[in-house]
Amino acid sequence: MDSLQSFAEGKLAALERLTLKRTLAPTHRVDGVWVERDGRRLISFSCNDYLGLSHHPAVKAAAMAAVETYGAGAGASRLITGDHPLMSELEGRLAALKGTEAACVFGSGYLTNAGVIPTLIGAGDLLIIDELAHSCLWAGARLSGAETVRMRHNDVGHLEELLTARRGAFGRVMVATDGVFSMDGDLAPLDRLSAVCAAHDAWLLSDDAHGIGVLAGGRGSVHVFPGAVVPLQMGTLSKAVGGYGGYLCASRAVIDLIKTRARTFVYSTGLPPASAAAAIAALDIIASDPALCALPLAKARAFTAALSLPAATSAIVPVIIGEAQAALEASLRLRDQGFLVVPIRPPTVPEGTARLRVAFSAAHADEDVARLAAAVRPLMAA
Ligand SMILES: *Cc1c(COP(=O)(O)O)cnc(C)c1O
Repeated sequence: MDSLQSFAEGKLAALERLTLKRTLAPTHRVDGVWVERDGRRLISFSCNDYLGLSHHPAVKAAAMAAVETYGAGAGASRLITGDHPLMSELEGRLAALKGTEAACVFGSGYLTNAGVIPTLIGAGDLLIIDELAHSCLWAGARLSGAETVRMRHNDVGHLEELLTARRGAFGRVMVATDGVFSMDGDLAPLDRLSAVCAAHDAWLLSDDAHGIGVLAGGRGSVHVFPGAVVPLQMGTLSKAVGGYGGYLCASRAVIDLIKTRARTFVYSTGLPPASAAAAIAALDIIASDPALCALPLAKARAFTAALSLPAATSAIVPVIIGEAQAALEASLRLRDQGFLVVPIRPPTVPEGTARLRVAFSAAHADEDVARLAAAVRPLMAA
């Protein structure tokens, strides 16, 4: 057998032994809530489509009209011919929602972090990153070549200690965190983090993938904390916004620098015009309907109240099971009762904290939330 084949097979066998091999399950999302998998209809509590906008008639209509008029793809990088006029309209909407001077749209949230971080810091600089931050912040960290130090989760005192001890030895310093942690649903204390960063001349980057459209009337996690000043606010158009793409909101100068230097922007094809059109329509709904934006958190709170869990702070509620195999079995038992709740296992989450990650949508019926809570209760006791 050749070495490539034996490498792949050996690696897969090892993952299988640890129940860590992941497989795809073709899923037809019928609407914002219902999915079909293996010929079964299930209510999904695993989508990040928090407002059901991926299937909203106005969002779909905007995408379809843009395909008809402008075609299916952007044709080139935005710096060549891929900068469709819809892009600057979308960037204007994002900057307005977030309250920044400017914005830059990327192909995805992952590409945003992989491009922004290495553009702003590099060798000789310091990056401090929350230990539970999303994988793409770590990818950006590696690509930057900056010395990377992990900060204990949401531990502002630890950040203060690290900056006091190490700030002086470095040129530029960035602190990167999720605004809403994707596997735990808790919020970063952005007001206190931003105060410490300001005192030590460190640049705070928050990843609001799960905050936009959901928190603070849809404006996102930074706006939950009065007084928080976050100069680098990135996020995605693929969760509550319902489509695809990523963005950075920042000052005009930072955005101009990113657009001329970030490799994942310069060397990657622009977002399809239809994705921009869909995002514009979705952001219009978000900006005009704060009551809709409040629903995912309200549903999550009803769930945590029913199970006597700590009150939800976002649309995401983790139900920690422990071992990977047990989380898998818990998920199967929920599936038998008509719920899709995908188990999350290491290395996505730390060893021994495999969990059901329950994500709530404005489109979930209150009865379904109550039925899910009743189905989860015996799994927690077990
Ligand atoms: C999903 C996610 C991303 C990646 O966004 P995509 O647009 O899906 O690439 C980035 N950060 C966090 C915290 C996420 O949950």
